Amino acid sequence: MAKKEELSEKPEETDEYAEIPEEVLDEKDLKELKNIEIKEIKKEPSESWEPKTLLGKEVKSGKIKDINEILNSGRKILEEQIVDYLLNTKSDLILIGQSKGKFGGGKRRAWRQTQRKTEEGNVPTFSAMAVVGDENGHIGIGYGKSMETLPARDKSIRKAKLNITRIKRACSGFDCDCKELHTVPFKVTGKAGSIRVVLIPAPQGTGLVIANELKKVLKLAGIKDVYSKTFGKARTTFNLVKACMNALEKTTSMEDRK
Ligand SMILES: [Zn+2]
Repeated sequence: MAKKEELSEKPEETDEYAEIPEEVLDEKDLKELKNIEIKEIKKEPSESWEPKTLLGKEVKSGKIKDINEILNSGRKILEEQIVDYLLNTKSDLILIGQSKGKFGGGKRRAWRQTQRKTEEGNVPTFSAMAVVGDENGHIGIGYGKSMETLPARDKSIRKAKLNITRIKRACSGFDCDCKELHTVPFKVTGKAGSIRVVLIPAPQGTGLVIANELKKVLKLAGIKDVYSKTFGKARTTFNLVKACMNALEKTTSMEDRK
């Protein structure tokens, strides 16, 4: 299987978090900030999509009907519409930001704001991290950066779609005897930076025993029950999510080795 596109733009850990001044955000942004829930991504009308890649053309013409065919072949997805076309995805934003200052200091938020120093002064840059999945074994994460919040969100969702990958799920097998694919097939460990996330199979009804932001990832991947362990000191949400994703990817790579 081909290597997935790396999350190339990493947030600089040294940048300061800063309060997003309300005047930077228009009404739509504010509404968006208050209303971050898992939501259906509207499917673009298929007729309006004019594929630019051969893969896109094969998908639109109906030659390829199953996303697994693409993922197994290792062909790179360069058009997000391919994913829209073949999967019914939902998206969510990971709260990678944190507000500082007199209003709601320390509150988690979807946008991470960093200041770029230029000759003209400080220029704010917004970044967002999205997770996209079909709640049925397909999941991707993406990171986007922009001068404004909404383009950063859109970029992160687009990248998450291009990074979509297939994971394996199973019944835990112990304390459980159902036929459902509700947990990870075996213990998997993922790494990112200094963080390690271990996902452990759990029986039906356990729920997701894991950090809140990782619940979003597992839920969209279609995992309902899991135990977990997390190691590492510098627990940035960004690396936590990346480590979780890395663990999920191992559900298939270890299967392939058998
Ligand atoms: Zn079960």
